[in-house]
Amino acid sequence: MAAVGIHAIQKSFGSTDVLKSIDLAIEDGEFMTLVGPSGCGKSTLLRIIAGLEAQDAGSISIGGKAVDDRRPSARNLAMVFQSYALYPHLTVGQNIAVPLRMRNLSMTERLPLVGRLSPKAAGKKVEIDRQVRRVAEQLDIAHLLDRKPKQLSGGQRQRVAVGRAMVRDPNVFLMDEPLSNLDAKLRVHMRTEIADLHRSLGTTFIYVTHDQAEAMTMSSRIAVMMEGDLIQVAPPAEVYDDPADIRVAEFIGSPK
Ligand code: ADP
Ligand code: MG
Repeated sequence: MAAVGIHAIQKSFGSTDVLKSIDLAIEDGEFMTLVGPSGCGKSTLLRIIAGLEAQDAGSISIGGKAVDDRRPSARNLAMVFQSYALYPHLTVGQNIAVPLRMRNLSMTERLPLVGRLSPKAAGKKVEIDRQVRRVAEQLDIAHLLDRKPKQLSGGQRQRVAVGRAMVRDPNVFLMDEPLSNLDAKLRVHMRTEIADLHRSLGTTFIYVTHDQAEAMTMSSRIAVMMEGDLIQVAPPAEVYDDPADIRVAEFIGSPK
């Protein structure tokens, strides 16, 4: 059974067919990368999987169940964006804790996100702090828990955003160009980190990039997308050795 099933997904904005009829099955534990030039529809497809955008036709399934009627928070996935969207006034630890507070505390206690808690909520907070620390240690940012986002480097901020996704313990991670705001050297380093994270968690990753080198190094399979169509879905070596058509060859072979 596919971890994520994309069935005949179509989407238009005005008169533009952005997704023409996408079919793709992503296996449990797979690192699937959607790669293709800017504007080909990658982010739109990811947002439809996440439930942040509605498709015009077709269906998304997660763990074999159609999720088209489910809100994003009920789809058991977590998304990391290019812009990390951290809360600037909260510390690293508080940022990572946000999804846990949302889940475990009542509305009156989760807002404001910092402040005095009832004894019952304080007990939950101890557990929340423990989970935050565990994730921060895994990402090597435990020494930064009391800092504010503006005191962090780009790579550290990126890790906080990944940490905030990890505490949700999702079945599926969706990442939309998470490295594109980083400088070239750090980007190469973070590739390895994300690949290691995937290996250690064993969860399903769907990763979007327009950087063909990034796609080639991290993925179990890549799905090459052009103008709203999937042109080729195969392991990286196969795409490299045997591109499905001239557009794939040009895209994969072109220098960054
Ligand atoms: P990619 O992520 O591959 O760069 P996108 O999915 O962001 O591509 O966009 C695909 C196409 O759809 C682009 O032509 C873009 O301008 C258009 N598009 C995306 N979102 C919207 C929107 N909300 N309204 C109108 N057009 C959109
Ligand atoms: Mg995009």
